[in-house]
Amino acid sequence: MSNLNDYEPVIGLEVHIELSTRSKVFCACPTTFGAPPNTQVCPVCMGLPGALPTLNRKAVEYAVRAGLALHCEIERYSAFDRKNYFYPDLPKAYQITQFDRPLCRRGWLEIETDAGKKRVGITRIHIEEDAGKLIHDGARGTLIDCNRCGVPLIEIVSEPDLRSAAETQAYLRALRAAILYTGVSDCRMNEGSMRCDVNLSVRRKGETGLGERTEMKNLNSFRFAAKAVDYEFRRQVETLESGGEIRRQTRRFDPATGKTYPMREKEDAEDYRYFPEPDLPPVILREEEIEAIRASLPEGPAARKARLAARFSLPERDAALIAGDKAAADWYEAAAEKTAYQRLAANLLIGELFRLSPSEEFSCPVPPEAMAALCDLLGAGEINSPTAKKLLGRMVRDGIDPVKTVREENLAQIRDQAALEREIRRAAAERPKCVSDFKNGKTAAAKTIVGAVMKNTGGRADSAILAELTERILRSPEII
Ligand code: ADP
Ligand code: MG
Ligand code: ZN
Repeated sequence: MSNLNDYEPVIGLEVHIELSTRSKVFCACPTTFGAPPNTQVCPVCMGLPGALPTLNRKAVEYAVRAGLALHCEIERYSAFDRKNYFYPDLPKAYQITQFDRPLCRRGWLEIETDAGKKRVGITRIHIEEDAGKLIHDGARGTLIDCNRCGVPLIEIVSEPDLRSAAETQAYLRALRAAILYTGVSDCRMNEGSMRCDVNLSVRRKGETGLGERTEMKNLNSFRFAAKAVDYEFRRQVETLESGGEIRRQTRRFDPATGKTYPMREKEDAEDYRYFPEPDLPPVILREEEIEAIRASLPEGPAARKARLAARFSLPERDAALIAGDKAAADWYEAAAEKTAYQRLAANLLIGELFRLSPSEEFSCPVPPEAMAALCDLLGAGEINSPTAKKLLGRMVRDGIDPVKTVREENLAQIRDQAALEREIRRAAAERPKCVSDFKNGKTAAAKTIVGAVMKNTGGRADSAILAELTERILRSPEII
């Protein structure tokens, strides 16, 4: 039967990202997400006969920014085409897009997985308009909201350089981080401002040619993209091994079953009858314009990582995790500037807050100043680490002030040797078996005493002092 290990998946991604310009790409309609259906439309984006599109230069500037962030060559001449197809969410029956003259070409994005670092090629980035949204309403049938018609999109097409679900996810994460840093999109998978199509074929390891591929459309989470890769890889290998062949197909991934299902036989470019858009002039960019955008480009994730690592003495891995999310990096930097315990701030952020953050996007209601105050308490030894973690959880949930809470609830660590010694002796006296076990060489018995003291002090004992004192007391001859 099939041996998955004899094969490898070959994966290329097409990612659509909505640009957060205030108005649409070919008309002045607003692009606000979540407005009542069909309230942000005009004859141009509805494609009424005779309406004339005008290009939003801001959309071009944003697309150039994205292209530069992904190390692309920016074309000084690019142009728009019509891609003709009929679909209910596209009243015009064609989409304005860039076909053979895209704005950006030949970029790359670095990804990192357990297998190491790798550069993934970016074939092209082009500008196009979004379509409307179909709302499938059980009672009323299918409804159409045209607010999204004409919202500017960039499509980022990768080379077929990815070889696993992990690489696919790493690519999507790195891409999202890079775009978020440029500020040209909010990249929200759940609001559809970032959407991903996965193209996948398989081949025997060692082969260099490309096999026939299928395309999984509109995966709306990184996890689903990874699952679609795993399922589709297995399905294609099994199909080939059982003597079948892979057909060029568009398939749908169903998160409920984790499987992919055929939607339609893939159409070719010819089917769309592309032709140059007659109502729009080409996009001409002067070298100076491109250079001005390059000069205004904010720091990207790689530079941020290096800067965080150097400035706050963070391990490379921690700096990478934090810099990988611009919102987290901004928040961390604001907190780290206000405390001397920047490593602790990084540990708490990575260990606690990333876990508590509700979505793929980092967001945290704790003001950076409060985080800094918490790190000061922990770093100076006024509270111990379990207390700090508990406090942080309450800061997120209830917005408590750490300094005030420590004072009011008496949460400071007990570091007073005499007080701890009394607690240890009391706990030992109540546990003669532990003491004799320890004396007989079972040194792990000390842990029971330590645990008891922690419990009796409400978790406030300084754990380092407590561990050391407990050992010392248990070793002393008088205690038998
Ligand atoms: P189309 O325009 O028909 O979607 P493209 O040639 O633009 O086709 O490719 C789309 C995506 O599919 C790209 O990301 C590319 O890397 C990927 N791709 C192309 N051929 C293969 C293949 N044989 N296996 C896996 N991915 C592929
Ligand atoms: Mg395509
Ligand atoms: Zn409009």
